[in-house]
Amino acid sequence: MAAGKNTAVQETLVMARYGELFLKSEPVKRHFIGMLLRNIRKALGAANLDCRYETPRGRILIYGGPADRVAEIVSRIFGIIDVSTCHRTSTDLADLCDVALSLAAPHLSAGMSFAVRAKRQYKTGLTSQELGTEIGSYIYDNTPGLTVDLDHPDYEVFIEVRDFGGLVYDRRIPGPGGLPWGTQGRVLVLLSAGIDSPVASWLSMKRGCEITHLYLDAGRWAGTDVTAAAIDNHRKLSLWCSGNPVSLVIANNEPLFDAMSRLKVPPRYRCVICKRFMLRVAARMMAHEGALAVVTGENLGQVASQTLANLGVVADAATVPVIRPLITYDKEETITIARRIGTFEAKPGDLACRAVPKMPATAAVLEEVKEIEEQMGIEDLAFAACSELRFVTALDGRITEDSAALQE
Ligand code: ATP
Ligand code: MG
Repeated sequence: MAAGKNTAVQETLVMARYGELFLKSEPVKRHFIGMLLRNIRKALGAANLDCRYETPRGRILIYGGPADRVAEIVSRIFGIIDVSTCHRTSTDLADLCDVALSLAAPHLSAGMSFAVRAKRQYKTGLTSQELGTEIGSYIYDNTPGLTVDLDHPDYEVFIEVRDFGGLVYDRRIPGPGGLPWGTQGRVLVLLSAGIDSPVASWLSMKRGCEITHLYLDAGRWAGTDVTAAAIDNHRKLSLWCSGNPVSLVIANNEPLFDAMSRLKVPPRYRCVICKRFMLRVAARMMAHEGALAVVTGENLGQVASQTLANLGVVADAATVPVIRPLITYDKEETITIARRIGTFEAKPGDLACRAVPKMPATAAVLEEVKEIEEQMGIEDLAFAACSELRFVTALDGRITEDSAALQE
């Protein structure tokens, strides 16, 4: 049994684990880890934290800055599985025992159960299991009244012994997983004031996409607080790619509703025509924003305009790839994510769309829709919507720039 004297040299650092990148080939993995490090640096830099990094196999070690703050920021970086604030020590068993006990002691009291989870890198010396048993015995002998429970312990302490040293920690803060932001190119996300599209945007970022948001402002046809609520979604989402400014493009689709009203378009067709219009505007904006696909928060069967038949009619207007991350999600599943990412809070104010009819068509007839759109001069309306744009930039949860600009 090891005997320590509480003299172990230790240093606090943050360790981040990444996941799916392991599946990649060596060169791709190197590139992705480089992007991951760049994103971590940017996010910590945005918080004025000047840190030092090491990248032993499968881990990112971050030194400097208040560890809890660093861990909190890094736990929001896509690609990261979990983050721990660690004590780094030597690989000596006595040191590991000392550091593990001093970390565990304040959390343990008689009657509690605990477990030591140990892992070591080399093939010689103690096995991982033996290491766990040794350190567990040391904690047990030095804290009266404990029991060991490897299945459902009240408290866990983790030990990693690697060639660069030992790491001791007791908390794993979950990260979002996914792929590093920026590894998959850019998407143009149709962002509304609602619950779904912010989640669709976040899920796209989680899969490595950079984002540009596009919001269509229906002017007096929309509730008075809709635009502010959409901008707020945009602002909150920027917290998930800290250090990278995100653009929101606001196009004007009030003239579309004016035209539908003037031409007495059957109200039941308004929703599908509106959604088709959004795809037209998005398609016109794609090249300018350098986006490779459009993302929406559409969902199968959530509202009358989202029947399978209507989704087909809407999709017919797309001339670019459209990704619908939430298509098969239950509302509860979407809400769970929305809560986690901070975009769920009930938004106060007038958020209703004044153009939604009492009875939207559940199976719009494509040929009729196309005929109506032709009468409306839909392409001219889409061109007009793209000719007067407003740009709102968000960075780290703040609106940094809000500019009216005319596109040439
Ligand atoms: P959400 O679906 O985002 O909760 P919603 O319920 O207001 O918002 P829907 O009618 O369900 O919107 O529209 C489906 C999708 O169309 C949205 O998820 C979003 O991607 C897009 N969308 C709706 N309204 C707008 C808008 N004003 N500007 C940009 N995109 C929009
Ligand atoms: Mg919706």
